[in-house]
Amino acid sequence: MLEGFRELLRRMGGGPVLVVGHARPDGDCIGSQVALARFLGSQGISATCVNVDPVPRKLRFLVEETPVLPPDAAGLPEAPAVFVDCSDAARAGEVLAARFPRPLACLDHHVSNPGFAEINLVHPGAAATAEILADLIYGLGGRPDAVAAQGLFVGLATDTGQFRYPATTAASFRLAGRLVEDGADPADASYHLYECEPPARLALLREFLGRLEYAHDGRACVAYLPPEIFQRLGAQAEDSEGLVEYARSVEGVQVAAYVESRNGGLKASLRSNNPLLRVDRLAGQFGGGGHAAAAGCFFEGDWESFRPRLLAAMGQTLADRGTPGISHG
Ligand code: 5GP
Ligand code: MN
Repeated sequence: MLEGFRELLRRMGGGPVLVVGHARPDGDCIGSQVALARFLGSQGISATCVNVDPVPRKLRFLVEETPVLPPDAAGLPEAPAVFVDCSDAARAGEVLAARFPRPLACLDHHVSNPGFAEINLVHPGAAATAEILADLIYGLGGRPDAVAAQGLFVGLATDTGQFRYPATTAASFRLAGRLVEDGADPADASYHLYECEPPARLALLREFLGRLEYAHDGRACVAYLPPEIFQRLGAQAEDSEGLVEYARSVEGVQVAAYVESRNGGLKASLRSNNPLLRVDRLAGQFGGGGHAAAAGCFFEGDWESFRPRLLAAMGQTLADRGTPGISHG
């Protein structure tokens, strides 16, 4: 892996390069993009972060000094691209996937990543893309600056569910400590990520909780939020981030889904409480992918037609690997 990173740095010369993240970026995506762009800058390689979608409100504190530009931004150079936290080229969104069907490199931790770049720095066991990137930077004897360290910390903290998910290892905690030594500020990160919720998000959460539906003896839990709810509450698309975790958190629930309308179809967020329950495979049945216990897919159709297919697929996943459940009536 380290050799691949060295080769990448050699191939980049002095730049310019684009650091591309995935559509609807999360903390691991933006944190890793910012950290990589800044590290490349420190190595004399000019790098610009690019994303098809805007940086979510709660992550903007990471990009004050390192902007993330849209693909059509004026003055964006024609340059090779490194894809970050993308399981495949399509995750970067249509425009960037079409421009870079085979990017120079990808840096990622998704089990479904086929190795779609020329240089693939992919480690599915890693808790976060930020964890891979930090190991590469430190492995070269480098050191992230304080902003990069904060980005890497946010990536690590968010993708591990605040250091709770099974991919969290002793190495994740050691890395967190090292990032704090290099300037990451956990209290500041936690303020921006978790202590600034807009009231509309809590109103959305109330609607979501009211719509939870249990199936398969309480082992599956799903909810769909129609677009009218977002309009009525004045909620933004990003306000639904993480709702699915509440569905998974119910005692006895082994597989959970949150579904919303997007681009004329449906987007499903899938979670399991055990990496042996492979929601990446469940998502794969609908053309999606992701991690063993956190995945997603897009469905062309409405909730009435998706609901029975989703519940059946969840039943199949449970039949393959689930354990007997308790009922929630
Ligand atoms: P989320 O549910 O938070 O949107 O996504 C969970 C995980 O599933 C993320 O790691 C993301 O990369 C992956 N994922 C979400 N939607 C899709 C999709 O449509 N296709 C693929 N391949 N992966 C997805
Ligand atoms: Mn990630």
